[in-house]
Amino acid sequence: MFDKFHDECGVFAVYGHPEAANLTYLGLYALQHRGQESAGIASSDGRDVICYKNMGHVADVFTPERIGHMRGSMAIGHTRYSTSGDKAVLNAQPFSVACNKGKIAVAHNGNITNANELRNDLEAAGSIFQATSDTEVILHLIARSREQQIEAALREALLQLEGAYSLVFVSENKVIVARDPYGFRPLAMGTVELTGRKFGYVFASETCAFDLIGATYLRDVEPGEMVIVSSEGLHRMQFTPPRKRAHCVFEHVYFSRPDSLVFGRPVQQSREEMGRQLAREFPVDADLVVPVPDSGVTAAIGYAAESGIPYRQALIRNHYVGRTFIEPSQAIRDFGVKLKLNPVRNLLEGKRVVLVDDSIVRGTTSRKIVRMVRQAGAREVHMRISCPPTISPCYYGVDTPNKSELIAANNSVEEIRRYVEADTLAFLSLEKLQAAVGDNDDRFCYACYTGEYPTQLVQIQQRLPLEPSRL
Ligand code: AMP
Repeated sequence: MFDKFHDECGVFAVYGHPEAANLTYLGLYALQHRGQESAGIASSDGRDVICYKNMGHVADVFTPERIGHMRGSMAIGHTRYSTSGDKAVLNAQPFSVACNKGKIAVAHNGNITNANELRNDLEAAGSIFQATSDTEVILHLIARSREQQIEAALREALLQLEGAYSLVFVSENKVIVARDPYGFRPLAMGTVELTGRKFGYVFASETCAFDLIGATYLRDVEPGEMVIVSSEGLHRMQFTPPRKRAHCVFEHVYFSRPDSLVFGRPVQQSREEMGRQLAREFPVDADLVVPVPDSGVTAAIGYAAESGIPYRQALIRNHYVGRTFIEPSQAIRDFGVKLKLNPVRNLLEGKRVVLVDDSIVRGTTSRKIVRMVRQAGAREVHMRISCPPTISPCYYGVDTPNKSELIAANNSVEEIRRYVEADTLAFLSLEKLQAAVGDNDDRFCYACYTGEYPTQLVQIQQRLPLEPSRL
């Protein structure tokens, strides 16, 4: 099957601000929820591109001294999450190289589905790779292009890619961003004020990064669009015609922050509407609506508002669970979900509870939470999930496990209910999810709920009976 690099990421870029690296640091700080494993910034002062990246949270990777060394008015940044087996600093981004087109650095959110094919061809032609990430392939394609101008070489490279990409580049004197023709992953564009009438340009996965730095959202980078900012101003190029749009619906279900505009729509509005729709589709006689924090909060508010059942925060999350936590080697083993969540017994005792969460993937978390709520005295636990059952893996940049590990791919809703030990269980229907995200012209990708993938290579691969390891 395809290599899935599970690159759940946040990207950021700025052009024309004297404190570009600092702004990027703040932007990444606001995008930290999109990836907690590694962080990196590349900046340019017009002559040199310097890059620093390491494992860890943005605030741990960068010190004031480190940022102080990153001069210049152009910068890009990246924050990345990856699953086990791929936790090398080698795969941290941005990737930075010096090639025949000059010095360039790139950061990527998404997943290139034909990366292995391209990589095999490049290796056969003599390219040497340092990492296993699909993003490096893009740099090799740019370096190999016969085009002299970087944007022309980039266009040539992008036309060879299939899959999901929101990309930010910095060269010695330009910032370039591009988005795949389907628009799978978000990429917003804005301006940041300088003194007088001057302003700089900023780009980010989510608009919550703009809010922190006082930037103004202008619009999204369009699918199939490349935006180039240099001393000549801002230029745009439609490097390929847009395809039928396929914005990732999971950005609205789970991944993005509710205070962001994603695909031009407030995530909060979508999520609250998911909760309201869920209450209409699957009402239940209960005493409390309780969210699984933080992912279920906004939908639970919608469920409570629509049903009239009181909303109570009866599960408290410890926000400070980090990598430095030392697990005792014996005695109290397997903390599981207890490390993160603790029930409020006096709210739950004797109560019939509607427990709202965003999704069930493997089912193991839900099972632990239902048990926890019951042990805290709840009389009934009714689980409500604000999206349909996840039946198919994502090849476009969301970390979902293989089909064999997706509980809904292999079990009915009733079987899942029994596994998670809930009194009742219901998932929002696809139709109501579509309504909740305001999708009246079919511009979202729902492949994780339908198994219908919008890109060709994945479609072909899905139809093959055997699991080939060629790709
Ligand atoms: P489980 O059913 O045990 O696999 O856990 C599902 C929970 O993990 C959901 O309620 C989400 O809050 C969270 N989740 C779902 N998808 C992802 C993802 N791609 N990355 C990180 N967390 C996720």
